[in-house]
Amino acid sequence: CSKCSETKTAVASKQGRFTRNSAPGKVKAAIVILARNSDIDGLNHTIPMFEQRFNHKFNYPYVFLNDVPFNERFKSAMRKLTTSKLSFGTVPTEHWSYPSWINVTKADEARKSMEKRDIIYGGSLPYRHMCRYNSGFFFRHPLLQEYDYYWRVEPWVEFTCDIDYDPFVFMKTNNKDYGFTIMVPEYIETIPTLWDTVEKFIEEHQQIIHPKNTLKMFRNDQGSYNLCHFWSNFEIGSLRFFRSGAYSKYFDYLDKKGGFFYERWGDAPVHSLGVAMFLPREKIHYFEDIGYFHNPFQNCPANPALQLRCSCNPKKSESLNNDCLNRYLELYRSR
Ligand code: GDP
Ligand code: MN
Repeated sequence: CSKCSETKTAVASKQGRFTRNSAPGKVKAAIVILARNSDIDGLNHTIPMFEQRFNHKFNYPYVFLNDVPFNERFKSAMRKLTTSKLSFGTVPTEHWSYPSWINVTKADEARKSMEKRDIIYGGSLPYRHMCRYNSGFFFRHPLLQEYDYYWRVEPWVEFTCDIDYDPFVFMKTNNKDYGFTIMVPEYIETIPTLWDTVEKFIEEHQQIIHPKNTLKMFRNDQGSYNLCHFWSNFEIGSLRFFRSGAYSKYFDYLDKKGGFFYERWGDAPVHSLGVAMFLPREKIHYFEDIGYFHNPFQNCPANPALQLRCSCNPKKSESLNNDCLNRYLELYRSR
């Protein structure tokens, strides 16, 4: 009922739980959506829910990014969904094309072979550009330069709990750099040499690895990668972290190895291992209270107090099906 939620909003706001749009110190943050012109239906599904659950109270701006220019139909469809400021950006061509050192024949062959083996998105070149873009470039887009934090949202995802506080203020106040809701293991076929590449990077760059890094949660008993990662279709993160020298060095190192094209390295394991190398555990946050669904996985709060304003089933939380989140939580328990 809209009246009740208005009342709740008013009460919470009086209690100072909200930092309003006009309040000084409001975080410089944006909702970032990489999308195609054909994603109108998916965003018509997602944005009204995101507004209702969260953003109508906070009015954070949206930045839409695309590898080709957005058309008028897309823009006017988005303008109908929110009163927040919207901007529409095109990705610079050099961030969405083969870098000079890639052997295109080798890349073509790798895709063919992965397609034959039925590896998910194995045959797709656009998907690879997308993963590389999210891994190393989105935070450098001119439209994001004025912001310090971002919230990644995708077409078709669902937000299933009211979010009555400002997660960006939470991130800033608590000095967090990376926030997630779901952890899952990656398909090894998409990243056969990623871990070895990261290990080599670590050996060669000891001085920039954080002394309190969290690599431990990603190592299995044999010391190799357990394939766990933060599922990056949901992220609330610090843009400064991704723009940092250490992360840039790491991304450039991976990019030179060519695994975005010769394999199918995803931005999720790439971000996660970057977070693991460069951030201490205190700077990572599990948003257990944010109900979130991206087919086929979801996060739904188990804590009854957090369940009150949700429309999801906690028994369906992905954290019950794999051990990745436990590895993360263990890390916090082992203080
Ligand atoms: P999945 O979640 O791994 O299945 O991949 P998605 O298809 O959801 O793609 C991830 C994100 O990138 C979504 O926000 C998509 O809208 C976006 N995306 C994927 N491919 C392209 C592309 O070729 N062009 C553009 N502009 N966006 C893309
Ligand atoms: Mn997706």
